[in-house]
Amino acid sequence: MKYYSLNKKAPNISFKDAVIKGLAPDKGLYFPERITPLPKAFFDNIAHVSNSEIAFEAIKQFVSSEIPEDILKTIIEETLSFEFPIVELNENISTLELFHGPTMAFKDVGARFMARCLGYFNQNNTNEVTVLVATSGDTGAAVANGFLGVKGVKVVILYPSGKVSDIQEKQLTTLGQNISALEVKGTFDDCQAMVKNAFLDENLTSKMQLTSANSINVARWLPQLFYFMFAYKKLHTKYKDIVFSVPSGNFGNVCAGMMAQQLGLPIKHFIASNNENNVVTEYLNTQLYHPKPSLQTISNAMDVGNPSNFIRIQEIYKNKFESLKENMSSFSFSDDETKAAILEIYSHYNYVADPHGAVGYLGCKAYLENNPNTHCVFLETAHPTKFLDVVEGVIKTKQALPKQIQSVIGKDKVATIISTYDEFRAFLLR
Ligand SMILES: *Cc1c(COP(=O)(O)O)cnc(C)c1O
Repeated sequence: MKYYSLNKKAPNISFKDAVIKGLAPDKGLYFPERITPLPKAFFDNIAHVSNSEIAFEAIKQFVSSEIPEDILKTIIEETLSFEFPIVELNENISTLELFHGPTMAFKDVGARFMARCLGYFNQNNTNEVTVLVATSGDTGAAVANGFLGVKGVKVVILYPSGKVSDIQEKQLTTLGQNISALEVKGTFDDCQAMVKNAFLDENLTSKMQLTSANSINVARWLPQLFYFMFAYKKLHTKYKDIVFSVPSGNFGNVCAGMMAQQLGLPIKHFIASNNENNVVTEYLNTQLYHPKPSLQTISNAMDVGNPSNFIRIQEIYKNKFESLKENMSSFSFSDDETKAAILEIYSHYNYVADPHGAVGYLGCKAYLENNPNTHCVFLETAHPTKFLDVVEGVIKTKQALPKQIQSVIGKDKVATIISTYDEFRAFLLR
């Protein structure tokens, strides 16, 4: 399988090279040349297939022969070594819990898969690879954890100072080994811009092999398509028309869901649920795409003003606005609405949602108003205790901390403070 750059001004490359490079030299995101749907029988029988087998069948065409099948199977089994439970709230709404991994955010799967692929590709290589990752909270933790101790790979995390939760900050800054954290005086967009600049900086790229572990990277992005298959596997015998509400920031997750649909998974519709960072909601309403600076909200992993994966979504729908609009709705919600949703989910269903999941829940409700005969699955993308202040403040009930969170709380933060791109470059070259 070859990958092409969506800017169409760079050569097509293999999966391996796409994973190592991250972004194409023309700044484009990579996209697979072909998507071959799986046979209908695969989806008809999916209830009897293990998660690892589903994942293997779904991803193998994108990896093709570059990782031998037995190694790819092992990578998948290690990546998926935790549960993906469905909780039905009522006959129209379920949630798919994606927070049972080591950092309790859905990004664990993509990060673990990518780390193992890169570790495999890099095993005989003496040149160290440096993974740069800008994070609005969860990516950094998942990537750091996924890559911890992987030989030949260094990870540098950039996070916006004061804009991630305390627990997230601990998860980013306490690992040590091959992981370093940079606390950036600025916003997530500033962090993302620094990473993008680094990739274009020949002064750096001539001296070191840089790659990205944001959902720009195909090995981070594509495995997210598994989730939609796992949910379908559990719900399709009971519910006919299944739609997904995906709390969205950089739009990698929802775009991966669309890839699952391209592979033949019978998904009726997607809902991209946003906080007040509403570039895509506005686009679907007006057909005008206006990236904006990001606004800080209580669902901070979705504070993205210029979603990097939107261009992949455009590609899937061949840049046809009407086709996209038929298959995806988008709604945007304020922090007050999100808090009210957390309370509603708790009081009606005795379920504790995190702010991102709550935005997803609101997306389901908005969609169900006009489509009452569908079953909407909102993705619970982070464990509620990662946003302890908000969640406990709303439901006024103390939450027990899971072991993954307890293990970082007492550790000491180690981070280097930077403000400018020059400081970032100096850090990398030190
Ligand atoms: C990253 C993240 C999102 C947004 O996912 P995208 O793929 O960037 O759209 C939503 N919720 C949580 C908790 C996240 O960490």
